[in-house]
Amino acid sequence: MMERQTIIAGNWKMYKTIEEAAVFIETLAPLVANATSTILIAPPYTALSVCAEVASNTNILIGAQNMSDSEEGAFTGEISARMLKDAGANFVILGHSERRTHFGETDEVIHKKLKRAIVEELPAILCVGETENQREKGDSEKVLKKQLEGCLGGLTLDELQNIIIAYEPVWAIGTGKSATPEIAQAMHKEIRAFIAKNWDEQLADGISILYGGSVKPSNIESLLIQSDIDGALIGGASLDVEAFAKMVLR
Ligand code: PEP
Repeated sequence: MMERQTIIAGNWKMYKTIEEAAVFIETLAPLVANATSTILIAPPYTALSVCAEVASNTNILIGAQNMSDSEEGAFTGEISARMLKDAGANFVILGHSERRTHFGETDEVIHKKLKRAIVEELPAILCVGETENQREKGDSEKVLKKQLEGCLGGLTLDELQNIIIAYEPVWAIGTGKSATPEIAQAMHKEIRAFIAKNWDEQLADGISILYGGSVKPSNIESLLIQSDIDGALIGGASLDVEAFAKMVLR
């Protein structure tokens, strides 16, 4: 089996000014300088370039939380992949459940964004996950497959190389109610099996699958020891520099 490197990613959502963001990265860098995990932080757009500047010459990679599916054009309020890269982004989060719920992003839109990220050679973290209602109805696996098909369907093996998947059950995001390690492991295994079935075993074995949903210092270890969980995408607990460093260094 392939060794997959652990990835610890922070999604700051709509939090932190430019100064707050810069101070966070400055404080974090020496704390995690010897970490063996890959460290990713996605600040809001406005703080991207300052974070990238402060993070240069450190082991912290800066990325974005969203982007347009278009190359450029008359799309007021949108940001392109090229602009993100220009600001220092090394990756982009796509299809976060808050984008799906509050901004109407469908699997079709997310697929277009993924295609754009691939064309622009910007590695993407694709988020998938079921709602509480879907889980209660026993539809979790069905929903997961539908999202994976809709977002990834038609991509070639090569195109999938730079994609990370994040399993983020909507009922666990920002609720303090994390999935149990057993539930998360089972869903990650489903995702890997889906990749193996539709592309190939080698890709499935190598692809990184992160868990997201109320990850914090007290529960991260129990999740990361699961064989198919390769890291964490962390919202709330990534806003606190000590908590985030603790999770990186655990
Ligand atoms: C997220 O925003 O991707 C997330 C998982 O948030 P939280 O850790 O706050 O649940």
